[in-house]
Amino acid sequence: MNKKIAVIRGDGIGPEIVNQALLVLDKIAEKFGHSFEYDDVDMGGCAIDKWGDPLPKEMLDKCIASDSVLLGAVGGKKWDGVPGNMRPEKGLLRLRAGMGVYSNNRPAKIWRQLAQASPLKQSIVDKGIDFIIVRELIGGIYFGTHKTETVDGEKKATDILEYSESEIERIGRIGFETARKRGKRLCSVEKSNVLDSSRLWKSIMHRLAEEYPDVQLSDMLVDNCAMQIVKDPSQFDVIVTENMFGDILSDEASMITGSIGMIPSSSLGNTTCGLYEPIHGSAPDIAGMDIANPIGTVLSAAMMLRFSFDMAAEADAIEAAVDKVLTAGYRTGDIMPSDANEAKSCKRVGCSEMGRLIVEAI
Ligand code: NAD
Repeated sequence: MNKKIAVIRGDGIGPEIVNQALLVLDKIAEKFGHSFEYDDVDMGGCAIDKWGDPLPKEMLDKCIASDSVLLGAVGGKKWDGVPGNMRPEKGLLRLRAGMGVYSNNRPAKIWRQLAQASPLKQSIVDKGIDFIIVRELIGGIYFGTHKTETVDGEKKATDILEYSESEIERIGRIGFETARKRGKRLCSVEKSNVLDSSRLWKSIMHRLAEEYPDVQLSDMLVDNCAMQIVKDPSQFDVIVTENMFGDILSDEASMITGSIGMIPSSSLGNTTCGLYEPIHGSAPDIAGMDIANPIGTVLSAAMMLRFSFDMAAEADAIEAAVDKVLTAGYRTGDIMPSDANEAKSCKRVGCSEMGRLIVEAI
């Protein structure tokens, strides 16, 4: 199969981790007889420096014309002072909106080899952590009107949180469909005790539940959900929630699995052209040091093969290779055991060495 992949290396550790994922994809192409063509796209701080725009239109067009997009991360201190609509992250929001990818799926799964890296008590981890957060990605407060004005001599800032029935229904369906393919339990997370948008959200989820009698729907307030994720994450199968709640809860969920560097994500809309990226940022504190963990990006590439290219065996091969490398004790710094005794059985490796080991294991 021939596939055209738009590649956004971005800023900070972005180029280092994406390069490892491309080596893994090259190995998959060689082993399974595919051809992957990479089309470089500038986005984020590097695009501001080069083009004066975090996502020039031609760059967005390249992404839309591709079979899927692989992204590292964008942003960094250098661009902190630029106006809001020109920030590197604005490029990312424009990319998501431009591609129409309204559903972000983030697995929170603990790798058995890294169980000790979870900050949770062993007794909680032993019950298992394996759930998915389905987050609405192109609506809600991040896409509402933002304004800062001076009223009666003081500054006042406003951000509007809006959701329409159709926006809620389409993400709700993804939640139910995802649950249907897994443990058939869907938890809808909102703040219906305070927000109108959440009351609408809840009513639509219950209307949809009638179409999915095989899926057990439950409701949870977002503040309770934040507690339950650390108290007993084994209770969750699929969580569906709106943009901002999903942003916050998915970072929390990633942390309980050990390291933010391990978690991939997929964002999809109505076509198979998806956006695949690790959930972490550009980690400027470790950029250029060859110590970043590339596994979140490598697993994002595996998700691309599985969900956009229908290449399940190829995705399995990548995931099995990661499993093998972890079992052999190889660890980047972020997943090294903090206990000195446990660390003795592990080998610390850098970003490019971790990539090489995964390629070798394939
Ligand atoms: P971050 O995720 O970049 O880093 C948080 C911490 O995790 C840091 O200590 C970092 O070193 C570590 N870390 C992250 N990824 C790692 C990896 N692969 N391997 C090892 N350690 C890793 O979050 P931040 O520091 O809040 O943000 C840094 C920049 O990234 C900011 O400019 C922010 O706006 C941007 N950001 C971008 C995205 C994106 O591109 N999708 C997402 C979040 C943040």
